[in-house]
Amino acid sequence: MSEDSIFTRIMNGEIPSDKVYEDDDCICIKDIAPKAPVHLLLIPRKPIPRLVDATAEDQALLGKLMVKAGEIANEHGVGDAFRLIVNNGEQAGQTVFHLHLHILGGKLFSESQLGF
Ligand code: 5GP
Repeated sequence: MSEDSIFTRIMNGEIPSDKVYEDDDCICIKDIAPKAPVHLLLIPRKPIPRLVDATAEDQALLGKLMVKAGEIANEHGVGDAFRLIVNNGEQAGQTVFHLHLHILGGKLFSESQLGF
């Protein structure tokens, strides 16, 4: 049996978090180690490990996350300039294997600076 991810444990209230949004499908929390003045994590309740593990049945959920990310960025004052990042796999920097979108804003991102 696989263990719950840290994000599932946060959703279950087992681990505290700074929550900025939640509904039946997803939750948005402040990243514990922010890499920008605004650094939020938008996480589906469904524990999809990586983006490549999503299937056709997840299309509506993934679409909702994209729309929601824009709304949340707006609410946090960075709607005109933010980055949305999904790390897929360890080599790409993924450390928590429960799909999540990083919403980063409030600083200048240069064109060449793809990392954060
Ligand atoms: P990844 O490297 O998987 O793309 O991103 C995982 C993110 O989760 C990291 O930015 C890390 O700081 C954040 N994180 C890890 N553990 C916790 C936690 O317990 N609470 C919160 N709020 N963020 C966490």
